Amino acid sequence: HAAQTPLLQVKNLSKSFRGLKALSNVSLEVRRGEILGLLGPNGSGKSTFINVVSGHYLPNGGEVWLEGRNIAGLPAHQIARAGIARTYQIPRPFSQMSVLDNVAIAAMYAGQGLRSMEEGRREALQWLEFTHLAGKAKVLPGELNLHQRKFLELARALASRPRLVLLDEVLCGLTPTEIQSAVALIRRIRDQGTTIVFVEHVMDAVMALTDRIVVFDQGAMLAEGAPREVMQSPAVMSAYLGV
Ligand code: ADP
Ligand code: MG
Repeated sequence: HAAQTPLLQVKNLSKSFRGLKALSNVSLEVRRGEILGLLGPNGSGKSTFINVVSGHYLPNGGEVWLEGRNIAGLPAHQIARAGIARTYQIPRPFSQMSVLDNVAIAAMYAGQGLRSMEEGRREALQWLEFTHLAGKAKVLPGELNLHQRKFLELARALASRPRLVLLDEVLCGLTPTEIQSAVALIRRIRDQGTTIVFVEHVMDAVMALTDRIVVFDQGAMLAEGAPREVMQSPAVMSAYLGV
């Protein structure tokens, strides 16, 4: 039954950079409607996972099944159209374009049949309201603070109306108050029906938000399961916390 099959099934996914195995034979699934936390020390392959699943890097091997279709190796724009959006660990807006147009372009790029930039802007404004950025619609991204730039990343990802969104350290560098606001926003993203893979180091937020976590170490999956159990497992304590 479709409702019980995972939204995304990753099988033996591998990615090397000049002999360095950034991902080696990773197999995992993302369930419909969940917030899956993806954890691991720096360099363990989390961003590479997002880059390969979203089509920004070509995998060296493996399969990525989204609803009965193997999307591994497809170009990024086709994967975006298939329903996967991502944010970047370091926000990368178009700096010469207004905040509104940055989101409008994302809405149009994902090919929801928006025919004009005006339609894209109308769609974009909704997402700026959702991310509390409507008051910044007309400014250039360079005028935003870090918190607002991170929310702009979210708005751009959401504007493509993805089924699955891959969030790469959206909380990094935010103050505790900003983190609270971002956590509430991520809950609302899930509540409107979007499945989320959440790469994050801020443990309070990971524990508050995630239904399940996966821990990577050196490009391989070290542990998977309920957040509390996984974080208390000896293998994870030793790899992730270095104890
Ligand atoms: P994480 O996001 O978990 O910190 P990354 O996925 O960014 O880890 O990196 C995993 C490994 O792959 C690291 O050793 C990193 O240096 C390497 N790597 C990532 N992207 C590239 C790239 N574009 N070119 C070369 N090496 C890379
Ligand atoms: Mg990373």
